[in-house]
Amino acid sequence: MTMTSKQRTEQHESFTWIDSVRQVGKFNQWTRRDWLKSVATGSLGALATLPSDHGQLIAAESDKCLVAITLDLEMSANFPTRETTHWNFEKGNLNDETKKYSVEAARRVKAAGGLIHFFAVGRVFEQANIDWIAEIAKSGHPIGNHTYDHVNVTATTINDLQFRFQRSPWLLRGQSVDEAIRDNIQLTSKAMKSRLGVDPVGFRTPGGFANGLRDHPKVRSTLLDLGFDWVSSLYPPHPNSEPMQQPTAAVLEGIVAAQARAQPFVYPDGLVEIPMSPISDIGAFRTGQWRLEWFLQAVREAVDWAIENRAVFDFLAHPSCLYVVDPDFKSIDLICDRVKKAGDRAMIADLTTIARRAKGKNH
Ligand SMILES: [Zn+2]
Repeated sequence: MTMTSKQRTEQHESFTWIDSVRQVGKFNQWTRRDWLKSVATGSLGALATLPSDHGQLIAAESDKCLVAITLDLEMSANFPTRETTHWNFEKGNLNDETKKYSVEAARRVKAAGGLIHFFAVGRVFEQANIDWIAEIAKSGHPIGNHTYDHVNVTATTINDLQFRFQRSPWLLRGQSVDEAIRDNIQLTSKAMKSRLGVDPVGFRTPGGFANGLRDHPKVRSTLLDLGFDWVSSLYPPHPNSEPMQQPTAAVLEGIVAAQARAQPFVYPDGLVEIPMSPISDIGAFRTGQWRLEWFLQAVREAVDWAIENRAVFDFLAHPSCLYVVDPDFKSIDLICDRVKKAGDRAMIADLTTIARRAKGKNH
């Protein structure tokens, strides 16, 4: 259904006085008149409770720039040293530095009035001590599902699935590739629920895809079937410098231009896509082998583009990389600072809030 501007205005207005409905998805399809009718007949009943995410709810309907800070909780090959590649086989075996960085990043963003959206690989929950991530969850930061072993959800062969299964295919116990992918996602949700007591908030694919999941309806239906209504899988192509070379003006312009191709949308089956915004820490520090100040410049220009265009910016980084290249949290502080300077034109938002806005624009 395409909404008329009148309906949108009505809906927008209604949020200023009826921001107490938890079932936002349902409410998005309603008009103010429907709402008044349901109040009159009392049919809304118990739904009208005060939400915990009052500010986020309003942001989903506003025309502000929404900036997400997302951190993927996994180990990264080539960090802390370029020769380090064994993490490919144990993505979830986070080291102490990575955990400490995650906790401090969460503290900083919360102090700046926002939340970080984390994505964890399920194997993290096999570790002896998970107090650090329990603390993060308790502070209100959402944690999404990033599969158990960092598998490629578009794989069609076991070889393409993940290094761990290339070396040890017997771990799949005869599952087909599709079954293995589904199992890897489900296991993560189970591990989180069992160890943290919470369900994952959203799903991010390991690796980004230039076309998102447009050509993968089967993967989308698996995600919908497992209860996810949004995914973060698209990472648009963009230019990069030669290794260790400072990005030229053309490279930086190309990165800013790619922001327009990293805006949320809804797939035909209703699944919402929230792309990752270039340039990721891995693109800058593994592929480009950049210096920190080059990365900060690219991020600043990209965030400023999003603010000027009232668009979305979805910062993608990995504490396992950042603790090495950005030990003083300059990237995260920079983003918080740009959002703060933008005043009421921007805010830090989690991906669920961004998904709500994307849905609202498509119904
Ligand atoms: Zn990842």
